[in-house]
Amino acid sequence: MVEHFLAKEDVAGSNPVSRSPLWRRRQVVRHGSAKAAPAVRVRSSPPNKRRGSAASLFFFTAIFSGQYHQMREQRSYSTEAIILKHTDLGEADRILTLLTPYKGKMRVVAKGSRRPISKKAGHLELLCHSQLQVAVGRNLDIVTQAQSIENFFALRNELWHMTCGFYLAELIDRFIEDDTEHQDVYRLLLGSLKVLDLDAEAAQKRRAEGITPSEYDRDRTRLLLRYFEMYLLSFVGYEPVLRSCAHCKTELKAEENGFTPTLGGALCPNCSHLWSQALSVNALKVMRILQRTEWAQIPAFRLDARLHAEIESAMHGLLRFHLERDLKSWSFLDMLSVQR
Ligand SMILES: [Zn+2]
Repeated sequence: MVEHFLAKEDVAGSNPVSRSPLWRRRQVVRHGSAKAAPAVRVRSSPPNKRRGSAASLFFFTAIFSGQYHQMREQRSYSTEAIILKHTDLGEADRILTLLTPYKGKMRVVAKGSRRPISKKAGHLELLCHSQLQVAVGRNLDIVTQAQSIENFFALRNELWHMTCGFYLAELIDRFIEDDTEHQDVYRLLLGSLKVLDLDAEAAQKRRAEGITPSEYDRDRTRLLLRYFEMYLLSFVGYEPVLRSCAHCKTELKAEENGFTPTLGGALCPNCSHLWSQALSVNALKVMRILQRTEWAQIPAFRLDARLHAEIESAMHGLLRFHLERDLKSWSFLDMLSVQR
């Protein structure tokens, strides 16, 4: 019996002529009634009663056989994920770009997640760290259940920290290819979001006590962005060259050196004709520390604005060279930095 239904569906699905009455009826109802008209109204008020019974039979057959077909084929899996990006799909759905520990970056559909009554929506916000149940779909997999592990509430309520978080997500979206495992990148993002969240929480507490955020706090967050960029580049195979000259391979000394993104890093004074910017001793020192140290062990530097701008310029040059474009978040981060 089931085989009969499946065969019937396949034939019906492959033949546009046999589908046309149903399609036409559904179009008529969609245009003629309220947008949210439930499927049952389509069946209970057909515009053509003579054809209605046959079409209804076909409709039920297609639904039941289709569901059975799906049940037979459908597999699902559980994964934790960080939500990097979302795009609206249709009237109530969303396509989410996720970073997962074992499947890398992937896109899934979250059906109905834009409806106000959606139970999943709160667990699928941008930057949310969630546990998901995902069904294998024909094109994109489908989120069937979502439960947030950490929603980074403090981060979400501080514009500066939230923008920094979005920047990290944008970097990952640009640098990481789909469906490739990147556990190191996943841990880097999760760890950085936790640091941002704690910083945001501390900033909120200080504000509640009447203390305005200090320059040092802002610089620490900016340094975290440089740290993230440095590690991300290394994890994807573009580790900046900071120990020896990127051109002649001579070991770099504690003197003014140079930096050229197109050559992948720092250059010695002998290769100064290839420099695109000078790199001070302190800038090289800080960049080397960022490259080789876990965030928790990085000393509490107090970088002046010029030194930070120098490091930022070198790092952004590298990112721009590898991506062949600027990142959208840069201008917004710059704007917030100026406002501060
Ligand atoms: Zn050199």
